[in-house]
Amino acid sequence: MTIQTRQPTVPITEMERDAFCRTDEPLVVKPLVEELQVNVRWQRIPREYLHLTSQELDERIAGARQELGKRLVLLGHHYQRDDIIKFADYRGDSYMLAQRAAAQPEADHIVFCGVHFMAETADVLSADHQQVILPNITAGCSMADMAPTEDVYDLWDQLAETLGEGETLPVTYMNSTAGIKALCGKNGGIVCTSSSAPAALRWAFERASRIVFFPDQHLGRNTGLKLGIPLEQMVVWNPFKPLGGLTPQQLRDSRLILWQGHCSVHTRFTVAQIQAARQRYPSVRVVVHPECTMEVVQAADDNGSTEHIVRSITQSPPGSVWAVGTEISLVKRLADQNPDKTVFCLDSMICPCSTMYRIHPAYLAWVLEGLVQGQVINRVSVDEETKHWAKVALERMLQVR
Ligand code: SF4
Repeated sequence: MTIQTRQPTVPITEMERDAFCRTDEPLVVKPLVEELQVNVRWQRIPREYLHLTSQELDERIAGARQELGKRLVLLGHHYQRDDIIKFADYRGDSYMLAQRAAAQPEADHIVFCGVHFMAETADVLSADHQQVILPNITAGCSMADMAPTEDVYDLWDQLAETLGEGETLPVTYMNSTAGIKALCGKNGGIVCTSSSAPAALRWAFERASRIVFFPDQHLGRNTGLKLGIPLEQMVVWNPFKPLGGLTPQQLRDSRLILWQGHCSVHTRFTVAQIQAARQRYPSVRVVVHPECTMEVVQAADDNGSTEHIVRSITQSPPGSVWAVGTEISLVKRLADQNPDKTVFCLDSMICPCSTMYRIHPAYLAWVLEGLVQGQVINRVSVDEETKHWAKVALERMLQVR
């Protein structure tokens, strides 16, 4: 099965969110059949995988990996569940993983244990003979899903009609469709990661007086503030309203137009949680991801990408106390790997990235065994034109990092 560039719009259901958000409960590996009882929208999978125990799945995944040898590279995003990440050849953030895969031409198959936009980026950067596979095709990113490519093209047309062509430069966060990255590439814009966002915006402001930023309003706003842009010069584009719910004058007066998107995981963190952490541990250092709201970022001691968070905690002296505002699977892993420090998540209600969580080991076993049998399941493939322009925008990002 080959999936073209269109992103799976499979939203997180209320039921699914509730199933994962539990106070003080460890994250347990359940047979897939139990998880499917609440996750009714997950991709269907052959029956034989539903009832396998975690040990049986581990053995089958390990067996298939061995058989595939160097023809396979398995990538695990930092937010991935432990029962998946333990099999990853590389773990990291989305862009670093895509680069790793591209640097391994002997690997015909890139199995990306992440979400859909990450697999697309890997396909854009990889060689023609490499095939990118997403074990569960419904593993989308709720933030990326808030910016369908067609809606962004619609905004682009409306801005050109209202403000004139060439007046605004598009900048997109890595967490977006290949189609949006291509729009940026075609129109003089750029892609950024959470760590390169300030440099990318600086680069863009050297070329235009106004920027439109997709799809995360919080990363856009936090970065704009870092660059000294006043809040009054930032407007939010609501894709459900004509002209984004803004007047032509508001658009003309703005310097930064923010797409109304957000991360459902990072917007769970609050200033009250930071205050509670400080009360409990006076020496605590609070570090959060810049996808958190402006109020949370300003109340924290530090903010930065997942790589920055990992590095800060790993390199801190023994006895340090860290309250972390990012995805729980990563925070738990950091706590386990740093037993000489106190590391905890700001939000006591455990809530992993539920779309990332859809990569259950049963899906990994299914696609790997498919490859052993010569069958490519869940290939994510970007068309040539989109690939070309998305790559242009990604290459610009490399110049400003
Ligand atoms: S943590 Fe948020 S931004 Fe990251 S993949 Fe999950 S939903 Fe998307």
